[in-house]
Amino acid sequence: MKFCPQCKSIMLPIKNENGNVTLKCRNCSYSRDLEKDSAEKYKITKEIKHTPRDKTTIIEDEDSVQTMPTTKVTCPKCGHNKAVYWQLQTRRADEGSTIFYRCVKCRHTWRSY
Ligand SMILES: [Zn+2]
Ligand SMILES: [Zn+2]
Repeated sequence: MKFCPQCKSIMLPIKNENGNVTLKCRNCSYSRDLEKDSAEKYKITKEIKHTPRDKTTIIEDEDSVQTMPTTKVTCPKCGHNKAVYWQLQTRRADEGSTIFYRCVKCRHTWRSY
């Protein structure tokens, strides 16, 4: 609990839009920004809900791309004839799996049905 240095009233922690906590006196207009470490004590919990994102079809991990098999296929973008490929099961079983290709030269990624 912090008290106002001017009127000795109780000061309340107010959270700003930028995430900093300011102590404000309830009695007079005195206010003071909290240091970061002491602000932790007044941490106002904010509920963050993670929305489950759709599984991305493009593999971002470069290392896993490098270990993937390559096949002879013409890149629609640069015309190179070698690309890594992988299969992805679509959510609807009747659609079967989709093959993705990624050009080893220009890294263009496309899918084949
Ligand atoms: Zn005061
Ligand atoms: Zn290419």
